[in-house]
Amino acid sequence: MSFSRLDSPVQYLKGVGPRRAENLAGLDIRKARDLLYHVPRRYEDASTVQPVAELEVGDSAVVVGRVRSSGVIPTRKGLRIFQAVIEDETGHITCAWPGQPWLDRRIRKGDLLLAAGTVRFFHGRQIQPREFAILESARAPSVSGGDEGGARGTIFVVYPASEAVPQWVLRQLLERNLSTLLRQVEEEEYLSPGERREIGVPGLAEALSSLHAPKSLDEAERGRRRLAWDELYFLQLMHAHARYRSTTAVNGIRFGRTNRLIRPLHESLEFRLTDAQARVLREIYADMTTDRRMNRMLQGDVGAGKTIVAVFAMMLAVEGGHQAALMAPTELLAEQHARSLQRLLGPLGVETLLLTGRTDAGERTRVLAALADGGGLVVTGTHALIQETVEFARLGLVVVDEQHRFGVRQRMVLSQRDPVPDTLIMSATPIPRSLALALYGDLDLSVVDELPPGRKPVETRWLRPSRRAEAYRLVRDELACGRQVYVVYPLVGESDKLELRSATEEWERLRAEEFPDFRVGLLHGQLPGEERDAVMRAFLAGDLDVLVATSVVEVGIDVSNATVMLIENAERFGLSQLHQLRGRVGRGADRSYCVAIADAEEAAGERLKVFRSTHDGFAIARADLAMRGEGDFFGSQQHGQPVLRFADLTLDQDLMRAAREHARATIDRDPDLLAPGNAMRRHLLTGRFGDRLQLRSVG
Ligand code: ADP
Ligand code: MG
Repeated sequence: MSFSRLDSPVQYLKGVGPRRAENLAGLDIRKARDLLYHVPRRYEDASTVQPVAELEVGDSAVVVGRVRSSGVIPTRKGLRIFQAVIEDETGHITCAWPGQPWLDRRIRKGDLLLAAGTVRFFHGRQIQPREFAILESARAPSVSGGDEGGARGTIFVVYPASEAVPQWVLRQLLERNLSTLLRQVEEEEYLSPGERREIGVPGLAEALSSLHAPKSLDEAERGRRRLAWDELYFLQLMHAHARYRSTTAVNGIRFGRTNRLIRPLHESLEFRLTDAQARVLREIYADMTTDRRMNRMLQGDVGAGKTIVAVFAMMLAVEGGHQAALMAPTELLAEQHARSLQRLLGPLGVETLLLTGRTDAGERTRVLAALADGGGLVVTGTHALIQETVEFARLGLVVVDEQHRFGVRQRMVLSQRDPVPDTLIMSATPIPRSLALALYGDLDLSVVDELPPGRKPVETRWLRPSRRAEAYRLVRDELACGRQVYVVYPLVGESDKLELRSATEEWERLRAEEFPDFRVGLLHGQLPGEERDAVMRAFLAGDLDVLVATSVVEVGIDVSNATVMLIENAERFGLSQLHQLRGRVGRGADRSYCVAIADAEEAAGERLKVFRSTHDGFAIARADLAMRGEGDFFGSQQHGQPVLRFADLTLDQDLMRAAREHARATIDRDPDLLAPGNAMRRHLLTGRFGDRLQLRSVG
């Protein structure tokens, strides 16, 4: 693929010299392409821009007008105020910027100014702009001239600008170069007219033209959707390719199903599988009984019953004479899993082993020998199981609990075996489908979207700190009935000394003053691993009544006797994190409580209201995504550019689904994009989009 002129330095565009190029770099505009893709931050149209004559005191207004006069006026208190009188076809109004006399050098008579702010009464109507933009400069009148801004029906485009590169400079540069740039970008069109019609997006050049110079807001939105499509499609193309490499292209295992173990396991259960569990199991069995390697993620709310699904999958592997491994993020969790597997599988005559850092030398030798020896068995452990040089005779299935600790590197270790074992990754926290597709589109997705019947939702309250005594009363009542309680404090960084001290001090206070008759333990991330384990084990064994903890308890262990989760400074936690904490209680048959203590307004207050009223983990996750934005989950690139600039996972769910279908179809037909018709796709995937879409970790 030949070098695109769009990749040449911005300096060679009309109106850009070395000095201006340097300033543009401050806005991340380095190549010609960056200018073309420097899209407006927002638009103002006739419906948002108000005629000056109609402004009333108290309005939150956006106005556009020519500067008729301006100057700096001093006040008695020594404050200097820059003022500009602006005028549209209907009248004039004063804009005032107290304390910013230096604006006198930037805003001049004759400039076309957009200003947004509240209209106040001060010697007549006045706006103190929250925000303003010089749409045209009197020093450099618009090339196209005619367009007298301020008139109704005009769309005003507001770019991300800087002091060194103001609005009007960007507008002028684009005005002078847009048609050339649009001609050049035509070369990168990879969608045929037929495909564009099918997807419902305009051509690339048309879309970019719509974004820079829309005739209506709808047109700008159509342009945005095209660019959003490009991002989502190439993201999914990358995933589809990775999926192909890790499933179809490798030597997988076709498991033979005999029901020798599956049937007795069914018969031994004290409950019936939910419809969701049964559906997900069918998906898993279908994957496992083909040659294609399974690489699947299992999603479900806390308590949805993911573990038993995984156990059935393991039985399918063991039936066929393979070994199945279950990996947990901590030793404690591994031990817990091993115990429940033993309980379920012992009666079926399936050997279950445990291998962690605590396994003593003799037992370790025995386990390693059993693994190397072959035969159907189940082994539980931490990630060390696959990272170390543990030799498996016939490893067929790897189940990973709590996906977010399981990195790409560990996945690689797995795929170096031959045949490559099937993989089932169980995620700890539900995430919205659109986010799951964006982050883990290389995995197939199964969702247990139903809780077993008869679950009592955890009763959730939000109390102001002034009502903490009520929370303590509840705690005492529950403790008196022999229940256990968590008290959680936020800890942002592991090394946050101040907050650590507060958790420690609170622990001292709680055991000495509030709950002196009970055994109160302290758990935080700075305790040595062994001590942390010991504390957790004591709580698990019922030797502690109250566990004061920082959020390390989040991916902790299930204590079915714990009935209260008390969260201090709850405003500091994210929604999904709160839900995860709440999931630590309500594991048993008893009524349970979650009390969030917080003095919270605005965003944090909204979060807590959602938390209090919703128990559905997926609904919580969607709200979390909508409130935080996807940037929080993706992280950003080195330059601080968000991974998705145009797509919005909440808004564009339909596009995301379509993008995934198209991408998978593309890869099914031509896995390595070698067909001549896919040359541009390959070029864009390996170049521009490949760099951008390398995903970061999940938050
Ligand atoms: P999670 O999805 O959070 O990992 P678990 O697998 O730990 O949930 O299951 C939570 C509890 O629900 C376990 O005690 C499990 O035995 C029980 N359980 C699982 N499936 C069902 C079901 N279909 N009916 C009733 N209880 C179930
Ligand atoms: Mg689980």
